Order: sequence, then structure tokens, then C-alpha cells
Amino acid sequence: DDYEEDTAETETVLVSVRVRPPNPVELKSDAGCVWTMPEHDQHIIKLAKGTEGMREDRDWIFDRILPPHSDNGRTYGTSARRHVRSAMEGYNAVIFAYGQTASGKTHTLTGSAMEPGIIPLSISDLFAQIRSTPDREFLLRASYLELYNETIFDLLSPVPGAELHLSESKKGVVINGLTEVAVRTEQEVRKLLRSGEDRRKVGATDWNARSSRSHCVFRVTIESRARSGGGEETPNGARTPGGRLKAAGDKMTRISTLSIIDLAGSEKHTSSKERNAEGKHINQSLLTLKLVISKLADLASKRNVTHVPYRDSKLTRLLQNSLSGDALISVICTVSPSSLNLAESISTLAFAQGLK
Ligand code: ADP
Ligand code: MG
Repeated sequence: DDYEEDTAETETVLVSVRVRPPNPVELKSDAGCVWTMPEHDQHIIKLAKGTEGMREDRDWIFDRILPPHSDNGRTYGTSARRHVRSAMEGYNAVIFAYGQTASGKTHTLTGSAMEPGIIPLSISDLFAQIRSTPDREFLLRASYLELYNETIFDLLSPVPGAELHLSESKKGVVINGLTEVAVRTEQEVRKLLRSGEDRRKVGATDWNARSSRSHCVFRVTIESRARSGGGEETPNGARTPGGRLKAAGDKMTRISTLSIIDLAGSEKHTSSKERNAEGKHINQSLLTLKLVISKLADLASKRNVTHVPYRDSKLTRLLQNSLSGDALISVICTVSPSSLNLAESISTLAFAQGLK
């Protein structure tokens, strides 16, 4: 298709900015979009001339810009496909959606029946890849968890509201008791996603508030091995696989993970008193995430890195295994097109800029 990306690019951290179409309220309040994205250059976004109160006319440069008319299929092609394919080959891959509440994170990752998002599109891609790789056998296992107010909830557990705890072992950080479900079709995955969503809603007294205040992690573990003995077991190229290579008799098993994370809303969470502690946790986890990702980008470009601060938040701790070992990372930053949300959009672009 015509959304095929630049194959020369092998950046460890890919940063995209996606501007959604205006919603009815925004359409009423202003003409539509305060951001301009020149057709001839798909890396630049800037404020439209004459945006109220804004003198600055700087260009913001990112790896990918997705203007309001681009759909989830295009977003998948520019900002996720390479990561999913790489997970198939034994590397870890992590895809994040970051942005203020209602900017389009869930639309981008989960999507709708009409317009499936990156999670279902990844799954169909994985199954298509499996079908075209008859010389290996694959096992996919899915898990789905929510991190809310520093507590991890297993969204696929048969027991509603099951809390999980982290522990450390030789293998790294382990999420004890996390339900992992073997999946064979895209339909099964959609069903899991739906039941996970229902599980979140049942547990929440204030669903909207909770959905903007929790991080959701969907993870597929991809295990594969050659069907007949021999054959090449290590992906070619300079990098070593981030996933584990496990000896199984005379065959080798590749294990890697694809993690897709719908982050809590990036707006400052300090509105009401009882939510302050929770808000601080969110701000802290997003800040730590930015630091961790930028350190990983430094590591990949052989810049001097002393310490990756995984331990400074529960979110980065639980993602530590998935992020380390040459993981490919994609961060899709979603923004509203409207002047009503200008301050938050600028803060999202600043976060995106700080990632590498
Ligand atoms: P978030 O998860 O960031 O809080 P949502 O994904 O729920 O935001 O988006 C808020 C609303 O805007 C939803 O009704 C969603 O369907 C709609 N929306 C978001 N992005 C797009 C888009 N690119 N195209 C069409 N509708 C969108
Ligand atoms: Mg959402």
C-alpha cells in the first residue's frame, strides 16, 4: 500500500504526532484546526498563522505527523507495522499512546468496529505473518492489565478485581499471577479486549474519571520455533534479539513481547483534593517514562548512559523487561486540533520532543 514507511529508518524510538478531527464542540468554537501540517513535508507541524495569543512561529519536527484525515490504517502503517513485524522476528516491541484525555489515544489503539485500531490491526498482521511463515510454529498469548492508582488489576482474570504484584527474579521483573490467554484468531483477541473493557467498567464507580487516570497495558507474548531441525535461529543483522532464546532439545525457541499501552491522560491531575495523590502518581509515571525512553534512545545511539531509571515508577518497572534489550519503541502522541486545547497540545508536543 502507499503507506509503506521508509525502510531505511531503523530508529529505536519512533515519535509520531497524530492530530484528530475536530469534535462538534470544537467546530462550534473555532474554525477547526490551529495546527498546520504542510503536505510536502510529513515531519513538520506548526501553529497556524494568527493563532490567538501565539507569536511563536516555530516548526516542530517529528518522525511522523498524522493529520486529521489520516485513519487508523495509515497510523498502523507509519507507526506500528515495523514494530509488530520486528516482534515476530524475536525482538521486543512497545507502542504507546500519549496525550490529554479525549485526544484520541483509545481511538488510535483500540478503535471501533468501523475503524479497528492498532491492537486489532497488529493481531491480524501477526496472524497473516504466521500464515506466511510455514516453516515455524507460533504460540501467541495475550494479557491485559490496568495500572490504576499504583495498583495492578488483571483485566483477563476469571476473578473480577484481581490485584497483581510485581516481584524480581533472575528473569527480571515478573508480574505474579498475570493471566495469559492463548489466542488463535483475531476474533478471540477482540473478545478478550471487550471483556477486559467490561471488567474495567464494572470495577469503576466513576468510569470516565478512571479511564483517564489509568494506564492500560495489552501484551502479546510471541513464542516460535522451527518446525524441522536445523535452520537459522537468530535474526540477521547487527542487533541481538531482545527476546529470550531458549534451548528446547535441538531446537531453539524465540520469545518476544509486543506491548501496546494506552496511557493515562497527560493533563495535570490536580483538580480535586482526594485525587491529588493519584494525580501525582500519574504525573510521576509519565515523567519517568519520558526519562526512561530518552535514556534508551541515548543507549541506542551509543551516547553515554549511566542509569535508566526504571525503578522510579511502577509503570516503567512493570515494562522493564519489555523495554530493555534492543526493544523497538513507538510513541504516538495524540492532540486535539482546537484552540480550546492549545495549552495541553503544546505540552504534549514538548513531551514528544523530549523523548530523544
Ligand atoms: P482518549 O482515549 O485520548 O481519551 P478517545 O480515543 O476516547 O480519547 O477519543 C475521544 C473521542 O474522539 C472519541 O469519541 C473518539 O471516537 C473520537 N476520536 C478520537 N480520535 C479520532 C480520530 N482520529 N478520528 C475520529 N474520531 C476520533
Ligand atoms: Mg481513552
